[in-house]
Amino acid sequence: PCTDFDKAYFQSYSHVGIHEEMIKDRVRTETYRTAILHHRSHIEGKVVVDVGCGTGILSIFCAQAGAKRVYAVDASEIALQADEVVKANKLSDKIIVLHGRVEDVQIDEEVDVIISEWMGYMLLYESMLGSVIIARDRWLRPGGLILPSNAVLYMAPITHPNRYAESVDFWRNVYGIDMSPILPLAKQCAFEEPSVETISGENVLTWPHVVKHVDCYTITIKELESITSNFKFQSMMRAPFHGFAFWFDVEFSGPANNDASSSVDESTKTNPSGGHRRKRANPDEALVLSTAPEDPPTHWQQTMIYFYDPIDIEQDQVIDGSVTLTQSKENARFMNIHLEYASGGRSFVKECVLR
Ligand code: SAH
Repeated sequence: PCTDFDKAYFQSYSHVGIHEEMIKDRVRTETYRTAILHHRSHIEGKVVVDVGCGTGILSIFCAQAGAKRVYAVDASEIALQADEVVKANKLSDKIIVLHGRVEDVQIDEEVDVIISEWMGYMLLYESMLGSVIIARDRWLRPGGLILPSNAVLYMAPITHPNRYAESVDFWRNVYGIDMSPILPLAKQCAFEEPSVETISGENVLTWPHVVKHVDCYTITIKELESITSNFKFQSMMRAPFHGFAFWFDVEFSGPANNDASSSVDESTKTNPSGGHRRKRANPDEALVLSTAPEDPPTHWQQTMIYFYDPIDIEQDQVIDGSVTLTQSKENARFMNIHLEYASGGRSFVKECVLR
């Protein structure tokens, strides 16, 4: 059933600004376009579903790559705009815009390819992946292609003295006035909930930990309800430890990494925006859209969870604990984050909500 939360969610996508921000994110949009060209041999003459088509941009890329038919589905009013864009580009014979939820629309054939840009902050915020799973289970033929094919959510401890200074230390001396009584409120207001910001590789204290691997071919809705992961970090330097950063990458390869990468068109193996291709152990280089701090920034930035007070960490000091991500009961699109962490004999708990 379509809840009031869903209505508000789809309403938010009826504004042009949100689409403009996504489309202007060249790392995002060009990686999708490159991935579509990469897998051209699996798209030519085939039937595609674009789950959450927005303005229709990915559907049009697929039509340009030779798709026989593209079902462009979106529940937001933006679908009406997509329909006009399709007409203006004389693609009405190839792209069928369906204005409705993926969960509700009807498609009377099997599809060969599912494409979707479903990733939210911290990968799973918005929980749109569930709609991709429904599309997959309903329409994808066995052996069909899903783009992206898999995703990884990472976390790492970070140091960010400047951020702490500007929100907290600032109150110690304001035009010569001691405003330190405001410190507890300042910490709460700045750091109670997660914040979406861009940090750099230099803020990161250790190698990242993999919180969750998502294989888009096999993941289930049940698996996404609650995710727990235990971590153990060893700091590469001495620094004040201010919190944890989360980020993700998604990969565009074929089903279970089998045939698709071998049929990659060599001529598309260029890197227009830089940084989104990365060497893997696999000799076939997979195409990756990364939102890591060391890679070029995207509109997803990184998601930060700061502590009220930093923890002084020595080089090689261990930080261990666990993180649990749960869909909020209040609104399934929100995410509850429960962190337990210990270092140097002290242990801590932090709970917050990404809303
Ligand atoms: N594919 C576009 C837009 C991505 S944003 C692009 O790459 O630019 C995600 C879009 O998915 C939004 O427009 C939102 O309205 C739509 N969406 C999310 N969940 C959906 C669902 N269950 N059914 C239909 N559309 C959905």
